[in-house]
Amino acid sequence: MERETKMVIYACILIGLSIIFINIKQTSAKKITLEPKFKRMLVTAYCPCEKCCGQYAAYGKTSKGRDAWKTFGVAADPKVLPYGKKLRIPGIGIREVDDTGGAMRQSTKKGICHIDTRFHNHNQALKFGRQWLNVEILN
Ligand SMILES: [Zn+2]
Repeated sequence: MERETKMVIYACILIGLSIIFINIKQTSAKKITLEPKFKRMLVTAYCPCEKCCGQYAAYGKTSKGRDAWKTFGVAADPKVLPYGKKLRIPGIGIREVDDTGGAMRQSTKKGICHIDTRFHNHNQALKFGRQWLNVEILN
């Protein structure tokens, strides 16, 4: 191969790599911070039933290992809201992050802070729907 052709190929590879690198930087720039203490979050609801949890319903436990039918908590993306975080949700009360789900992790990718509140009744969860609320982060 001629020297000039090689140079062109190297240049193209370099440009390609820089484009990939810039894209990675842009996606990671969407990182959600937990400051200030009050944060507008997308709040949805679920119950431990099969309709809400599919295959995980038979397990009956949250991803943290808590009994989903006996405890109240919220599912979140643990990279944004780690397990054990306590949140004061308007109209619901104080709930601890003890579960996770694909929907929350997908929302993170879009820059949305999303939590899924656990009810013990499917209709109650449906009734709650989707709400944007100012959630207080307590710890
Ligand atoms: Zn349900």
